Amino acid sequence: MKQKNDLSNTNNPHYDVLIVGGGMVGASLAVALVALGLKVGLVDAYQFGVAEQPSYDDRAIALSYGSSRIYQGMGLWSELSANTTPINSIHISDRGHFGATRLSAEKEKVPALGYLVESRILGKQLYARINDSKIDLIAPARLEAFKETDDGLIIELQKNEKSNENNDSFQLKTRLLVAADGTQSKLRDLAGIGISRSSYQQSAIIANVSTEKPHNNEAFERFTDTGPIALLPLSDNRCSLVWTHDTQQGSSTVEQTMALSDADFLDKLGKEFGYRLGRFTKVGKRSSFPLALVTAEKNTANRTVVIGNAAHTMHPVAGQGLNLALRDVAVLADLIAHYGNDDAGSDALLEAYEAQRAEDLKNTVRYTDSLVRLFSNDNFLLGHARAGALLAVDRIAPLRKLFTTQSMGINHRQSRLARGLALRKKQEASA
Ligand SMILES: Cc1cc2nc3c(=O)[nH]c(=O)nc-3n(C[C@H](O)[C@H](O)[C@H](O)COP(=O)(O)OP(=O)(O)OC[C@H]3O[C@@H](n4cnc5c(N)ncnc54)[C@H](O)[C@@H]3O)c2cc1C
Repeated sequence: MKQKNDLSNTNNPHYDVLIVGGGMVGASLAVALVALGLKVGLVDAYQFGVAEQPSYDDRAIALSYGSSRIYQGMGLWSELSANTTPINSIHISDRGHFGATRLSAEKEKVPALGYLVESRILGKQLYARINDSKIDLIAPARLEAFKETDDGLIIELQKNEKSNENNDSFQLKTRLLVAADGTQSKLRDLAGIGISRSSYQQSAIIANVSTEKPHNNEAFERFTDTGPIALLPLSDNRCSLVWTHDTQQGSSTVEQTMALSDADFLDKLGKEFGYRLGRFTKVGKRSSFPLALVTAEKNTANRTVVIGNAAHTMHPVAGQGLNLALRDVAVLADLIAHYGNDDAGSDALLEAYEAQRAEDLKNTVRYTDSLVRLFSNDNFLLGHARAGALLAVDRIAPLRKLFTTQSMGINHRQSRLARGLALRKKQEASA
């Protein structure tokens, strides 16, 4: 793909908004801001498309129905949806215990409960849109430091090129700085925002697998003694597998499963997951990720907003990480549309962002964390509590509604983008 001429594009280094981190979250915010005509820069440590770029790998992301509306508001959904697989139903069960729950798009009267998209494909579409816009792509460059001035922040960046033997650094100025630089966010640390971190003592193996029987656009979440298995429908009758392993269990460590031959891996997966889709017949490249809950103590500091994994890194069990982050993006873009022409880094914007995100962030982190803890525990009584919870969700309409709306990403106050509407600048909104 054609790339903008990165660092040379920065002749006018006074930005309204500078986004550090061009992963799925930072790049989505950049695309959302195209409509506003502000001076926006997007910095990433890697050139888009190189193998080292950590955000765009083989993982498939379950975008909630709410996220599809956000991309619709950005004008990206019509192209993106051609490369997604809709989830028409979700089957949730607990291995060895009675009780299962089924969520369905038909019952909820929506076109789909969610959509599967490969992160590499999502990245290509986001960067194609950025390349066609006036946004400056500043890559490969790493944020090293920043300092405050009366009307903005001065950012120091280091060129991140193998040939950069002179350690070339350069400066940019911005009114608002957005930290979208992932779980280990340097910007969050430099802004003095602390984190709380708790390891789940689990790792997830991800891979694409094929099965004997068609998935019929059904997703499966199966809780087993070794950890949850999520199987999500992809194109060509493939499924995206997220197989969580308890790393404390000596007999079944993630390394051992990773080391199995393809045939043994598929055999073990079949024994754990069961044979609802027949036998597993093929597996693609496998990768593994350690899992922890990391949350920032706050989401803003002077002229700085923290979003995406930098603000909240969650267990992938409920597929909420990017979906929650896209709601960060939608709210922040709404506020930038409102305050951006005067001062995108104003205290009023920062206070409004903190206030508008607090509830959704707290609820989504709590929902995902409780799900992991409830279903990770191999205690006999908890096993029965889980079965009871699944049956209750299946039978009791209001509880099912809560479960479904949280999974669909619509259980919260709706920004313009989250309602599928395009952003409006302040003047247009009041005209
Ligand atoms: C196995 C797995 C499955 C998942 N499935 C789902 C799912 O189904 N649904 C869902 O909603 N979520 C899912 N998630 C969560 C989702 O992947 C994350 O929420 C998302 O990737 C976060 O993206 P990000 O852009 O915030 O961070 P990252 O992807 O970490 O991107 C950070 C970017 O910042 C750049 N960077 C870092 N430091 C610097 C620096 N100093 N200077 C400049 N640039 C820098 C990096 O190069 C990178 O491009 C899953 C996660 C995992 C692990």
